[in-house]
Amino acid sequence: MIDVDEREGLWMETTIKINMSFSKKYRSGYPLLLKEAVVNPDKLVEEGQILNVIDEEGTFIGKGYYGLQNKGLGWIVTDKKDDLVDEGLFRRKLIKAFGRRRSFFENERTTAFRLFNGEGDGIGGLTIDYFDGFYLINWYSEGIYSFKSTIVDVLSTHTAYRGIYEKKRFATDGKYVEDDDFIMGERGEFPLIVKENGVNVAVYLNEGAMVGVFMDQRHVREALLNTYAKGRTVLNTFSYTGAFSVFATLGGAEKTTSVDLANRSREKTAEHFTLNNVDPSTQHIIVEDVFAFFKRAEKRGDRYGLVILDPPSFARSKKYTFSAAKDYSGLLQQAIRLTEEDGIIVASINHSGVSRKKFRKMIDQSFREEGISYKVVESHSLPDDYQVDRHYPEGNYLKVAIIKRLGQWNEE
Ligand code: SAH
Repeated sequence: MIDVDEREGLWMETTIKINMSFSKKYRSGYPLLLKEAVVNPDKLVEEGQILNVIDEEGTFIGKGYYGLQNKGLGWIVTDKKDDLVDEGLFRRKLIKAFGRRRSFFENERTTAFRLFNGEGDGIGGLTIDYFDGFYLINWYSEGIYSFKSTIVDVLSTHTAYRGIYEKKRFATDGKYVEDDDFIMGERGEFPLIVKENGVNVAVYLNEGAMVGVFMDQRHVREALLNTYAKGRTVLNTFSYTGAFSVFATLGGAEKTTSVDLANRSREKTAEHFTLNNVDPSTQHIIVEDVFAFFKRAEKRGDRYGLVILDPPSFARSKKYTFSAAKDYSGLLQQAIRLTEEDGIIVASINHSGVSRKKFRKMIDQSFREEGISYKVVESHSLPDDYQVDRHYPEGNYLKVAIIKRLGQWNEE
């Protein structure tokens, strides 16, 4: 090991220089080491290497680690010159994050949340989720993975865990590791049934990166449950395991239609309904390309009281390639055409490349094109457990608008 001084127990630092044109950005706290900002990348030889980051004039910027992620070369984890990037620093950051979630641990109606949110909690490339006594660690690079023993040690000594699982979200030998990544404790029985605002949610920690629920949409599901679903017919597109449909049904929706391209979505959605004492045969679960479904629905003249639009940032099917940045407006226009007057559209986008402002523009443009007026009645972003770093706006990726579809544009 080249970067550990065994006698001192210290992790040695390698000095990395930032191009002067980026100096201001980094001095004001930007945590991600972008490829284009580093002038001496040849110094980066082994992931997990500890970095002392300065600019080309020698001004101290911060300390961090080398870890290759699609987003960059690594993360700065402290801006204090006297800090050492060592076990103590990882321990302090983790314990601070656990403390911030105290109220989440005490909430019996919601037993799943994010315990550690990467750069938002001071260490980019690492997330830890909590599912009713089970923990799931996501490692986004080989670099952060090299600190596994420290991180697992802190987690296991500071929490009353039942079991700890992990996902390596980086390629090893060109392949993503997606199997049953059990670390320690008790092996869970899957699906693990967790609660979200009193509703049963099925979680699988043994089936790859997507565990069955996107917890960052918790407040949006709650809004359906408490406010928007009642008495409405619901169309849930890109429905995945049907979580929005289940909350809508429990919130008094007349009927739900869930549409997703993946075969597995049928059985997972049915399971979600059953877990909440709803007979799945009373609901529509459709395995189909949303774009094809929209075409058919429009031809038939379908109208829904509530349409949910939560596509992935990028998707490719046999017939279509979808990119949220380019195609969202078109998708929203189709949703508008399928929504009744005074109906609701839940428009969600999780692409960090589309800003809040741009998203509002897209919404406005789509309604204008359709000649329909509208009102944004609620907006949502990441919930509190998804702590964000204000110096890293890309991490604040979730944008959700709950929109009331009104009458013709010119009637206003
Ligand atoms: N809205 C969901 C999460 C969506 S995840 C929730 O809140 O739980 C993205 C989903 O989109 C995946 O399940 C994927 O199978 C589906 N998908 C991707 N492209 C699609 C397409 N063209 N038509 C239908 N579903 C698609």
